[in-house]
Amino acid sequence: MDDHRIRRRVLFGTGALIAAGATALGASSAHADNDIQAVEPDVDSTTEWGARTPNGTNPVINRRPAKLIVHHTVAPNTSDFSRARAHAHARWVQDLHMDDNGWRDTGYNFIVSRGGWITEGTTGSLAALLAGQRFIQGIHTSGQNTTALGISNEGSYHEGAEPPAAQWESLVTVCAFACEQYGIPSSEIYGHMDFNSTLCPGIFHDRLPQLRDEVESARFE
Ligand SMILES: [Zn+2]
Repeated sequence: MDDHRIRRRVLFGTGALIAAGATALGASSAHADNDIQAVEPDVDSTTEWGARTPNGTNPVINRRPAKLIVHHTVAPNTSDFSRARAHAHARWVQDLHMDDNGWRDTGYNFIVSRGGWITEGTTGSLAALLAGQRFIQGIHTSGQNTTALGISNEGSYHEGAEPPAAQWESLVTVCAFACEQYGIPSSEIYGHMDFNSTLCPGIFHDRLPQLRDEVESARFE
């Protein structure tokens, strides 16, 4: 296990949010209840992985998303679990979305690599998540982009492949944190195919009940 993969910061109410430096971004009210323990995952920002400048302004939705929608990126199922690979993958997805699809930016709000590294997708999504009161409109699920946060997974999971344990663990962590920050019930986690005609997110859709259970546990462990 790579010790550097997940550097978790455990938050205990608003005091810990101050320690995490999120107060400067406007967070606080989401963690007024000290009984709730959330785990903030490390997320590499667009600056950290060298994203391109979006082609236009990403719309800010000035309310909390009501649900999370899980995707896969249909990238090759690499055995390179490094942070460098996660960054290269984030750049590949952005190039695909901007150059091939003609979108303004990466369509997913966040991406979890096969090695368990989490990267910001649509520029601005990380700051918005830490603030907990708004989100950035992604481009990931037709009809849901102004309601749902899109979280994708590096790899191809529509042909029977299972995600590596590290990827699953980080998916649970980022989903739990997003549910915590935005007050989303863990029951409101879906897969892309619940809304559009697609094979996305493959095996992750089969495992949504497990994901919801583990997210619920992670929020109150
Ligand atoms: Zn999808």
